[in-house]
Amino acid sequence: MNKEKKYGFATMQIHAGNQDNSARALCGPIYQTSTFTFDTVQQGGACFAGSESGFVYSRQSNPTLNVVEERVAALEHAEAGIATASGIGAIAAAIYSSVISGDEIIADETLYGCTYAMFNHGLSKLGVKVHFVDLSHPENMKKYLSEKTKVVYFETPCNPTLKLVDIEAVASMAHEYNPEIRVIVDNTFCSPYIQKPLDHGADAVVHSATKYINGHGDVIAGFVVGSNEFIDRCRNFGVVDMTGAVLSPFNAFLIARGLKTLDLRMERHSSNALKLAQFFEAHPAVEKVYYPGLESFEGYDIAKKQMSLPGGMISIELKADKETTAAALNKLELCKIAVSLGDAETLVEHAATMTHFTYSAEELKNAGISEGLVRVSAGLENIEDIIADFEQAFADLI
Ligand SMILES: *Cc1c(COP(=O)(O)O)cnc(C)c1O
Repeated sequence: MNKEKKYGFATMQIHAGNQDNSARALCGPIYQTSTFTFDTVQQGGACFAGSESGFVYSRQSNPTLNVVEERVAALEHAEAGIATASGIGAIAAAIYSSVISGDEIIADETLYGCTYAMFNHGLSKLGVKVHFVDLSHPENMKKYLSEKTKVVYFETPCNPTLKLVDIEAVASMAHEYNPEIRVIVDNTFCSPYIQKPLDHGADAVVHSATKYINGHGDVIAGFVVGSNEFIDRCRNFGVVDMTGAVLSPFNAFLIARGLKTLDLRMERHSSNALKLAQFFEAHPAVEKVYYPGLESFEGYDIAKKQMSLPGGMISIELKADKETTAAALNKLELCKIAVSLGDAETLVEHAATMTHFTYSAEELKNAGISEGLVRVSAGLENIEDIIADFEQAFADLI
């Protein structure tokens, strides 16, 4: 690549990232090594001191990881990125690098389950207070903004009702109060092909690359992207000293492979999801459909503003109780019952019996999760086959 030139998204997802590749292999090599050697102890010392560039140890950096770090950063319009062993590893590195005891975070009340656990049980142990608010109404944040606020954190779309948060509105309100507040967005549900939070005023983005970025259901991984200064901190403190959650070179290689088709996959995930959402909307057993591509969807206008496509995630509410919903899903022949998302296979998750099994009927109600709520990650199969599978599975519900 010519570093002086500007390239389109598809070109960047294939070519961005510095390849140190003396054999001129088309696909970058896997540097499956824990450590790196020096010609002399003095050179080793210079690499430690940073006066000479060079790899030292793979918990800090590794050439195979650098490729995907630069690639994901370029796709998100960020200066820099760091790869981590999981999405939660990325979130922990970003948060540990942003707060100390006594600081406060304002987070949306709807978060990925383990992120909520980290913020709620985890950070409170470290003396960091998290205020959970509904950021789909950004003014809800005002009450909690103070000189202690260091981070504003949210996902959009949120899990499982796909609620959207207006990135620009939240970022500008936080920055107006204090430009130093770090606005961090979990962009897992969209991938950078559909949404680039930094373009809308966010300061950093975290990803579970386990999902769309890798896209093939065979890797657990994460990324943080943002300014050079922040990513340096996430690397040299967040990952190296605090979490140690470093990605393996082999998994970085698989991510580089998956990324090559990100735009094509997101186009197909979105077009399949739109047709499936329209099918659900017309189905008599379906009470409600949550999908950013439907005009009936509450966040439709925000979707138009910040998402280039409606994405591959749909939630529906069936007119059925927990047992009847479970029985219908058990009849699926093609679609798989599984958590996670963003894979080639269509995945179906029943919150009341799976992810939220510990919730009582009342707790489910308070969390806005009905017994018939089903989350679908539309896969890449032929859409006629996906629809036919739901049609036969839901036949007895009518
Ligand atoms: C899966 C997920 C995570 C956690 O990522 P892991 O790779 O499983 O650690 C965080 N946020 C969102 C929105 C997710 O879907």
